[in-house]
Amino acid sequence: MRVLLVEDEPLIAEFVAKGLREAGHAVDHAATGPDGLHLARTERYDALVLDRMLPGMDGLDLLKTLRASGQRTPALILSSLGDVEQRVQGLRGGADDYLAKPFSFAELSARLDGLLRRQDSGPGEQVRLRVADLEMDLLKRNVKRAGQAIDLQPREFRLLEYLMRHADQVVTRTMLLEAVWDYHFDPQTNVIDVHVSRLRQKIDKDRGAPLLHTVRGAGYLLGRRE
Ligand code: CA
Repeated sequence: MRVLLVEDEPLIAEFVAKGLREAGHAVDHAATGPDGLHLARTERYDALVLDRMLPGMDGLDLLKTLRASGQRTPALILSSLGDVEQRVQGLRGGADDYLAKPFSFAELSARLDGLLRRQDSGPGEQVRLRVADLEMDLLKRNVKRAGQAIDLQPREFRLLEYLMRHADQVVTRTMLLEAVWDYHFDPQTNVIDVHVSRLRQKIDKDRGAPLLHTVRGAGYLLGRRE
């Protein structure tokens, strides 16, 4: 998932961003309301985590502005203003959930998973992905090939989810960097090759016809090849 974090307190921002990255998400961070609004309008995110009190613009006003322009990205509001009235205001303002500071990362992570799950199970959203005999259940977060469970790390899961959503298409390294890794990642490293090779070991080794292919000079393709 790509997550936009708008938080002006450096220590909290660092703690949340680090945790989200460790959980396999790609994180963009903005430290002011206007910067956050700009990113939310120009980039595509799967979820927004917004602090309430921000320089330049209140996090709730930022969200109202986005909602007014029709943007439905799930949003979690973080705030020290944790009382009931503030919470109601937040939810009325278009937030999907509200978390009072101080919070533990485990709680933030659980709330965020809840938001994404609700989003996933909404009308028209796929909960299961299938490519040949490879299956992914996005709710249970499990992967099977020919009925056999495959154990994946969070980043490998994200990588495979992206490849499965783009099955039978060539997926470039840039697409993977943007969707699965952080924007600020150095594309010169071999991180993608390392993860693809690990994923290939898990889904293809000794499991019949290979599904994950390297397309020389272009990228990768997941699917059956004649
Ligand atoms: Ca703040």
